[in-house]
Amino acid sequence: ALKDRFEKIFGTLRGKGRLSEEDVNLALREVRRALLEADVHYKVVKDLTDRIRERATGQDVLASITPAQQVLTIVFEELVAVMGSEPKPLTISPKPPTVYLMAGLQGSGKTTSTVKIASRLKGSHKPLVVACDLQRPAAVEQLRVLAEKAGVAFYGPQAGQTDPVQVARGSLKYAEDHLADLILLDTAGRLQIDEALMEELVRIKEAVPPQEVLLVVDAMTGQEAVTVAESFHAKLGLTGVVLTKLDGDARGGAALAIGAATGAPVKLAGMGEKIEDLEVFDARRMGQRILGMGDVVGLVERVQQVTSQQDVERLTESLKKNRFTLEDMLLQLQQIQKMGPLEKVLEMLPIPGASKMAQGADLDPKRIKHTEAIILSMTPRERRSPEIIKGARRRRIALGSGTSVQMVNQVLHQYEQMKDLMKAFGKGGRKGFRMPGGG
Ligand code: GDP
Ligand code: MG
Repeated sequence: ALKDRFEKIFGTLRGKGRLSEEDVNLALREVRRALLEADVHYKVVKDLTDRIRERATGQDVLASITPAQQVLTIVFEELVAVMGSEPKPLTISPKPPTVYLMAGLQGSGKTTSTVKIASRLKGSHKPLVVACDLQRPAAVEQLRVLAEKAGVAFYGPQAGQTDPVQVARGSLKYAEDHLADLILLDTAGRLQIDEALMEELVRIKEAVPPQEVLLVVDAMTGQEAVTVAESFHAKLGLTGVVLTKLDGDARGGAALAIGAATGAPVKLAGMGEKIEDLEVFDARRMGQRILGMGDVVGLVERVQQVTSQQDVERLTESLKKNRFTLEDMLLQLQQIQKMGPLEKVLEMLPIPGASKMAQGADLDPKRIKHTEAIILSMTPRERRSPEIIKGARRRRIALGSGTSVQMVNQVLHQYEQMKDLMKAFGKGGRKGFRMPGGG
């Protein structure tokens, strides 16, 4: 992983007063390799590394972070800049109806995304999804079924209609009659870009001028994404991109490539097959994903805000010694209550699977209170050596905390899980990442 390679490089960079060109080049070689592995287009990679080199070379090494982290921060900032640091919401036409034209290759997720967007906006608008994919008979039916499931209005080809332009035009009238103010045109895709498809899309665009032309791209597309986006952009003038299947293990280089190639921002991210699996695209999170690391910077900032130096030092010590006790867990629980949702905190940890674990964790504040009560009912010795907490002690602790033996068991189980997590954290963080005030 990039993180490991960075750690190696970072090791060699450490302890120098200034970042030399040589140091930076060494680090950039790894950046380049990682970006290419994440399927970022080579032209984009070159641009990026040029900019990073310019910014990093000759910089004074900051006292508070390692040179490695410093370079990493620059890399990260540049990645985010290419993708757009601010979320770009879908725009609404000042004069209804607002029309969104969905375009993309076959299987990219156009039909699914059309319904996802409609469903998301049905609270504030009255959307109408329109089947302009007349290539495959099943396509119309697919949209109709999904629309019904999502509870949004549907319009398809009328008897004898074979031209999607007719359908698009017809949908304007239908929307007016049915008071729909948002029209989403689902279109046909091919396996490859071809002229006939492009012409069809251009004709639809001319017949029903859209507020947004959204390119739907499968995140797995990789380097191909640049060619695809450039072709669609040249013909249609994209206003935004929907990047789908980000729930898979694509590293997401496509997001970078598309932004760099067309300037069209990625606006939305498809995170699954279900209608609600759509998120506003977050460039920072994508940057982390491309670099294959958790939000270390964010974590440090957050931890700094809410914990006293002393607490952090104590925790760091425990992590260093790989000894995570129930006392530490108590400390963590108290910090977490100050920090906000546990899932947000876990998401920021540079550990694969941490956010998944957060989803499984019980985040109910009442539960956290109970957990706190249970740990407080333990003797200091029990807290430091949880393995001695057997049946009789469990009953006593349950009584003392006003909970049940079952809940005590759960807390001990949760502790074991956190301990594993902290072990991973201690390992992953030892080199590149220092807790504030830590060694
Ligand atoms: P179209 O040919 O562009 O209209 O693509 P579809 O909307 O029919 O989607 C093709 C396949 O991809 C379907 O099986 C969808 O369920 C699936 N799909 C679409 N978006 C996502 C996504 O964000 N995540 C996952 N896992 N699957 C998706
Ligand atoms: Mg489709």
